[in-house]
Amino acid sequence: MHKREPGAAKRSKRVKELRVYKDWCKRCGICVSFCPKEALEKDPRGYPRWREKEACVLCRLCELRCPDFAIEVVEDGGKEENGRRGREEAKAHSGQ
Ligand code: SF4
Ligand code: SF4
Repeated sequence: MHKREPGAAKRSKRVKELRVYKDWCKRCGICVSFCPKEALEKDPRGYPRWREKEACVLCRLCELRCPDFAIEVVEDGGKEENGRRGREEAKAHSGQ
């Protein structure tokens, strides 16, 4: 039996984009703490950034746990599907 790197089977090679809305982010670190794959870390200013992008499995816990709706993980090519929050916001602001 050949050895596998721990967690290798769970790695996702899908291209992902991390969006952090810095106007809303209060740098609490909740997203970083709740990421089950430790894919995130805080940058020197305290904002979340990728620690290991490939470890991210697109579970979206970071989005769900962020109290300020300040983070999104978007699968490349899935912008329509994943841009729901932005669309809802746009709707709310346009009064529709
Ligand atoms: S949980 Fe939200 S507000 Fe807190 S650091 Fe993460 S993105 Fe910023
Ligand atoms: S989507 Fe899931 S695995 Fe990816 S960074 Fe957010 S919490 Fe971590």
